[in-house]
Amino acid sequence: MDYQKLATLLFPNLSMTREEIEAQYPKRKDGLVVTRFAPSPTGFLHMGSLYASFVSSVFAHQANGIFYIRIEDTDQKRKVEDGVQKILTDLKKEEIVVDEGPMIGGEYGPYIQSERKEIYQAFVYDLVQKGYAYPSFETEDELEQIRMIQKEKKDRIGYYGIYAKGRTLSLQEIETFIKMGKPYVIRLKAIGDFDKKFEFKDCVKGKIMLPSNDMDIVLLKQDGLPTYHFAHVIDDYLMGTTHVIRGDEWLSSIPIHLQLFRLLEVKAPKYAHISPLTKKDGESVRKLSKRYDKECSMEYYQKLGIPPKAIQLYLATLINPNFENYYLSDKNACISNFQFEYRKMSTGGTLFDLTKLNFISKLYFSRLTATELYQMILPYYEEYDPSFYQLLIQYPKESIAILNVEREIKKPRKDFASFSDVKKESWYLYDELYFNSEYQKEPIKDTYDLALVTQYFDEVFKETDDKETWYCALKEFISDHGYAKTVKEYEQYPERYVDHVGDFCEMIRVSLFGRLETPDIYELLKILKKERIYKRLQQYETLL
Ligand code: GLU
Repeated sequence: MDYQKLATLLFPNLSMTREEIEAQYPKRKDGLVVTRFAPSPTGFLHMGSLYASFVSSVFAHQANGIFYIRIEDTDQKRKVEDGVQKILTDLKKEEIVVDEGPMIGGEYGPYIQSERKEIYQAFVYDLVQKGYAYPSFETEDELEQIRMIQKEKKDRIGYYGIYAKGRTLSLQEIETFIKMGKPYVIRLKAIGDFDKKFEFKDCVKGKIMLPSNDMDIVLLKQDGLPTYHFAHVIDDYLMGTTHVIRGDEWLSSIPIHLQLFRLLEVKAPKYAHISPLTKKDGESVRKLSKRYDKECSMEYYQKLGIPPKAIQLYLATLINPNFENYYLSDKNACISNFQFEYRKMSTGGTLFDLTKLNFISKLYFSRLTATELYQMILPYYEEYDPSFYQLLIQYPKESIAILNVEREIKKPRKDFASFSDVKKESWYLYDELYFNSEYQKEPIKDTYDLALVTQYFDEVFKETDDKETWYCALKEFISDHGYAKTVKEYEQYPERYVDHVGDFCEMIRVSLFGRLETPDIYELLKILKKERIYKRLQQYETLL
């Protein structure tokens, strides 16, 4: 067969040659690590795709490398409107730093595959010319027939060996079919032997034995667009990707991909196949599903107000479990100071656990200063709860003081896992909400001696006392009124006391804050101050 003639027949109007294209792509700097995230524009970013993009960005950036986005939209049926825009917006919202990509720019574009049609064709032309690719004219029905025969004979399914009829066509037959307008695809003329295995070293999974590829897979589809297999090989080569980090569902395609790199006579990148995020479902474990699991959607976190940084810290513990210890033990720990390793990644499923995410998020919140937290919650409340937002901006100083309760100390509070928790745990310190009947308060028990609480504030409480003086004075006062100064004392001789210090504090909590549990009362009283304390006490007196 005259392959040169075949190539010209298939691509009579080639606009650029492979060499001309290659000349347009500058070589990346020696040693530069280049990774990418290559989503199909099929909708919003979800936890699975965020994880994949985060892993790729982390491995590039920890080596001062480049992380780029490439949109894989060669499957026109799966495209959704504004798909590219949606993905880019979501990545930005999740604070993933992207160095190159569509709408971002870079020297290695276009970064959208459907805009690279001529590039793929030039490379297919090159393969045809060398005898490594050929057209195949089977209809869907004919292909189905082949599959039926293979099933009957219990043979492997696919287009290979004796089943690859397209291989046997003569140039003349091909010419006739093309003249007749018969649709065709262009296939790889595979050079492998399925019975021969080769060793492949994956960055995550280590050494694996794989069969050599003998499948004449499709390179260019009938619409002239490439398949994933071919497009990613061309793009990762031209764009200088050094590490292809992708879902492990692609691991079995490695023989095809390596063969393509070999036939194109270019160096293959390293591959890191990452296992999917999974979730516990009763006794079993299954893949996290964007259709069924609320925690797979990024909107779930946005509504709750779990910030991107907290999510990333949790995802970092999924990449390398030893990140958790590092983060727990060092309050200045940050993702960019940690050296992630492929070989420490899970080779099976990666269990995604909301409880754990909350735990990491609480730790993250506990390390923020009150002012930082105040700045961070403003845009959240502006969007999701404008009336609380109004209070936050009306009382900035007080709000920061409220946020600072049990914060910026050695063992800060850890009860905020999200921005929405901030309001849940502090609404009662705003009079506008406290005196609003829609906000549920703990009922006053018959046993509460509110007269005694009022007397305490009249006679003893001083706003200016330091914590120790305040507590000593409180204990003296209650002791004078028959309360035990400690719970222990009370438990030893319950008959001697009316109640104990804990009970007195409960009366303060319920009558002033409407809650059985609060952070440190001393700090809360300092925020409220006398005037507001009396206002609240009076309200409860009218309830009696
Ligand atoms: N577009 C492919 C996918 O969404 C990307 C795989 C890869 O990263 O190479 O699965």
